[in-house]
Amino acid sequence: MPLTSDFSLGKVAVALTPRERFAEFLQTRGKRITRQRQVIVDHVAGHHEHFDAEQLLAGLRRTTEGAKASRPTVYRTLAEMVDAGLLRKMVLGGRAVYEHDYGYPQHDHLHCTTCQRLIEFSSAELARICDAVAAKHQFRGRAHRLIISGICADCRSNKSKSRHQDRV
Ligand SMILES: [Zn+2]
Ligand SMILES: [Zn+2]
Repeated sequence: MPLTSDFSLGKVAVALTPRERFAEFLQTRGKRITRQRQVIVDHVAGHHEHFDAEQLLAGLRRTTEGAKASRPTVYRTLAEMVDAGLLRKMVLGGRAVYEHDYGYPQHDHLHCTTCQRLIEFSSAELARICDAVAAKHQFRGRAHRLIISGICADCRSNKSKSRHQDRV
């Protein structure tokens, strides 16, 4: 029976749990899934928001099992999880942000440069454009990544409020 994950953008059926998939990947590199790596992959799999390495480290240290997680291990494991196709890495304003890739539908982001919020969206129209562009270049597209940067609705209304207050 395929496993499914429940995300805001829907579900994608996957054959293996993130831990199984990670173990399989590590094996191809002649590595083992150590206890430390297991704790990290399970913690990441249980949290679905976007995060950076320091947030993950802080989150792990709040748990009994992850209390002793070291910074180098966290950074190394994150890089391995990206290589294994479990996580996707984005660099936003110099900060590396990670999110689930395995079992998560293709989507794009709006990034607010004021509050750093990431808003997810998926657009069939955009997918069609990517397909058409790829076809034009006899290219077999596999994935695309689009980040629209700007200012979110909340930050825009705060800004106009403070501008209004300046005037009075
Ligand atoms: Zn904002
Ligand atoms: Zn996302």
